[in-house]
Formats: sequence, C-alpha cells, structure tokens
Amino acid sequence: MNRRNFLRNAALGAVAMASPISISAFGEATKKTGRSGRLNLSFSPYELKLRHSFNLAKYSRTTTPDVQVQIEYDGIIGYGEASMPPYLGESVASVTSFLSKLDLSQFSDPFCIEEIHEYMDRIAPDNRAAKASVDIALHDLLGKIMGQPWYKIWGLNPDKAPDTSFTIGIDTADVVRKKVDEAAPYNVLKVKMGLDNDKELVEIIRSKTDRPICVDANQGWNDKEKALEMCYWLAERNCLFVEQPMPKEMFDETAWLRERSPLPIIADEFLQRLPDVKRAMGAYDGINIKLMKSTGMHEAYKMAVLARALGMKVMLGCMTETSCAVTAAAQLSPMVDWADLDGNLLIANDRFDGIKIVNGKVTIPERPGIGVVLL
Ligand code: MG
Repeated sequence: MNRRNFLRNAALGAVAMASPISISAFGEATKKTGRSGRLNLSFSPYELKLRHSFNLAKYSRTTTPDVQVQIEYDGIIGYGEASMPPYLGESVASVTSFLSKLDLSQFSDPFCIEEIHEYMDRIAPDNRAAKASVDIALHDLLGKIMGQPWYKIWGLNPDKAPDTSFTIGIDTADVVRKKVDEAAPYNVLKVKMGLDNDKELVEIIRSKTDRPICVDANQGWNDKEKALEMCYWLAERNCLFVEQPMPKEMFDETAWLRERSPLPIIADEFLQRLPDVKRAMGAYDGINIKLMKSTGMHEAYKMAVLARALGMKVMLGCMTETSCAVTAAAQLSPMVDWADLDGNLLIANDRFDGIKIVNGKVTIPERPGIGVVLL
C-alpha cells in the first residue's frame, strides 16, 4: 500500500471508530504547522495475508489482523505495529479502542518512555499488542531523533546476532518437503508440533536435511511421560530445545519434565511480561520474548536482562508481522541465544524494508530508530 492509500485508510479507520479523542489523521494537522512539539498518534487496520495457511496444534488461519501505527513529533515519524494472532486475545477492535483512549499529546518529551508505559498500563491492564505498537513507534521516533539504531543505543554488537530459525508448520508430507526446500537459506528449522504425527514430521525433515531443528509444541503435549519420551527422541535428532511442550497451566508437570529432559524447555505461551520471567524460572530453562506479549521493546529489553541475570536462556520470537515489528525485535537480537524472527517472511503484503537474513543470520539494518523504511 502506498502512503496515500495508507493515509486514506487511516482516516477511514478513524471515522469507522467514531473516536472522540484528539488523534490526528496521520499528521494532517501537524503537516500544516511543521514543528508540533507534541506526540501525534495515528493508526490504521491492516490485514496481513499469509503466504501459506498457518497450522498449529490448536488452530489454522490464512490471515492475521494487524494495526499499523505512526507517531509524529516535530515532523519526524516513528512507525509501529500491533499484530493480533487469535490466541493473544486481542483484535482490531480492542487495539483501536485502546489506541483511541490514548492522549499522547500530554507528553511534551518523547523520551519519557517509562512514563508513557505507566500511563498506558493505567488506561488498561492488558492490550499488550496495542501498547507494543505505541512502544515500537516511540522507539523508532527516538532513534531517529538521536540518529542511531537501537542496538547501538543499547550498546549491543550486531555481529553477535544469532541465526534465525525458519518455521515449518504442521502440514501434509508433500507440503512439509516443499517447505524444507524453501527453508534452504536458513541454518535452523523450527518445527511446529502437538498433533499425532509429530515423529512423522521430524522423519520427513530428517530425510531431507541434517540441519538443527528446534521444536515448538504450542502447548500440545498433555502427558508428561510422553513429553519426556519425545524430548529424548528429539535429542537424538539434533534438536536444540523444546518450546512450550505442555499447556501453560501444567506448571508442576512442566517442572517435572524440565528436571528430566535432555533438552532445554523454553516458555512461550506461559509468559507475557516482566513479572512472568521469575515465575517461569521454576519450570522452564528459558523464555521466548515477543514484542506483542511484552508491550514492546522497552519491557522486552528488561526481560532479556532479567532472564540473563537469573541464568536463563533467552529466545526472541515474533508473530506474523510486517518487517516493522520484526526489525524492532531484531534490535535486541545480539542479546539472545536463539532468534525466531521469520514473521515478515510468512506474509505476502509487507509494507516495510528492514531486517535481512544473510547466510541464515539476523542482520540488522544500519538505519536510525528501528531500522525500517516504507516500501
Ligand atoms: Mg511458540
């Protein structure tokens, strides 16, 4: 979508929401006045079209609802995004309703990120993807004001960014073989599990490649003994770790599994924000941080620091998102053990140029802010 259409959709979105709040329709007001000295938030729904149907243990889908966000300040625009896969419990309606309640114009200093997050948490306790969209746009804006990408502001060495895994969803044998071929540029494959044919899926992949895999059961294993047997079976097949093997409610069973498993057990659905990190320590070896869960980059950074201090492994993931949110997450990637930043590669209508995968490795653009430009 070009900028003109995006602006028009933004205006239409604002009309559809009949919001009484003083949100400018994509900077029209500020364009006239030049330097505003105020934060102007605008947003627009944007449905992500998936290249392949996305099949997980508990559901399947071909699109992901998404809201694109801009924050303008003194003529500089920061881009952000909220992606809402169904299991997160957010929707276009809940995100736009939350964003409509915000009045960022009360903050004259865009560097007050901590204060802006406190303000957003007072508005509503949840709405994590909506908060992430504001947080990402703010980081983009601040980085542009400072003229630096966030990995530099955080003092991270981009050469330490890890490989990213490429996701092979649950599918028929032929489609899985095709996806393994598509995944040729990636050094790690992420295998979605949690149905009856888990072993068959791995055997198909192993018939084509020896590259390491990581496994995401998406809460699909309900029996701890069977889960342990799977962990041993996978450990013999060059698997790096298992993500969310059991339902998040089965904390004690997961702790039991973790004590015996030859592979690290990583929390995903179990964990959302900073206070969850310490809670996860009792049953998991590591955490999967995603901006749409953590309310954005500000808290994601704190989660990575805390997890490291607690001696836990850190993984960085994403939803199906445009390159906007995926590149924002990539800024943090030099801090993590494993990255799963392929969400932008799974959609057919990306709006941004940003993160690149070079020889399988996360490569952060050398641009200020979160590092993206509109296509
Ligand atoms: Mg997961």
